[in-house]
Amino acid sequence: MTWVIGIDLGGSKIALGLVSPDDQIVSRRRINTEADEGVESVTARIAAQVDSLKDDLPRGETIAGVGIGAPGLLDPVSGDLYTLVNLPGISNTPFRAILQEKLSLPVKLDHDAKVAALGEFHFGAGRDRDSMIYIVIGTGVGAAIIYEGSLIYGESNSAGESGHMTVDPNGRLCHCGSRGCLETYTSGPALAEAYAAASGETVSGVEITRRATAGDATALRVLREAGRALGIAIASMAMTVNIKQFVIGGSVAGAGDLLLDAARESLKSYCFEEVAAKIRVTASSLGEDAALLGAAFMAR
Ligand SMILES: [Zn+2]
Repeated sequence: MTWVIGIDLGGSKIALGLVSPDDQIVSRRRINTEADEGVESVTARIAAQVDSLKDDLPRGETIAGVGIGAPGLLDPVSGDLYTLVNLPGISNTPFRAILQEKLSLPVKLDHDAKVAALGEFHFGAGRDRDSMIYIVIGTGVGAAIIYEGSLIYGESNSAGESGHMTVDPNGRLCHCGSRGCLETYTSGPALAEAYAAASGETVSGVEITRRATAGDATALRVLREAGRALGIAIASMAMTVNIKQFVIGGSVAGAGDLLLDAARESLKSYCFEEVAAKIRVTASSLGEDAALLGAAFMAR
């Protein structure tokens, strides 16, 4: 009987879940990240929430460990955070070591896309697959590759930085310095920019999804364009690693088939027919819980 805690460290919020031995999230907490206050403050506030979750354990049970997913460049072995673009206040800190000391519990830390991929692979849309590529599309775009049950890290932990795959060499300049990255087409801010350019109105990516569902022609076109770019990236990844199952998560994936149908159609133009015929593009089935369940899985 092993109880663990999964934590999703985000740019604005930190979500925590107490996870039972049968992989159910039985209790939750949510706090503001406030990374500007620094690593001591963030880890102290996480520790306070972990303590409060212990109150929800059945009598006599204890927490065996904590798993945490964080955005940006990090070292999953040392648990050090490097550059977190949206969280400068905790960048370049030995985050895991500091948190582990405060909790007196074993802590595992990894990249948020990899952690959410573990969740979908073991408990969600990739449950019955041997291999899977997870693409998370929100404020940014990330991905994680699971091959025969194991995450692929690459030689310097950057495998899966597919948000910065070029889908159009003549495309928009990306904040990473490259041009025509997938992220410049499909991220929430990219959708908002494309919608504003077409309509003169500035709305969020989530609002564009809502409007598309309601039949707004501009919103539908923006999502189709994003889906087309996503399809190019999927085709390239499928041709490279020959993995069939793609699971798309993150807030933009909330658009569902309005986005994914365009991706399913466009990928056919960019890879072998035999490869395209086997690709499955599925929306995440766990939503935000993928990160919590994946972090809990990692903690075990
Ligand atoms: Zn880029």
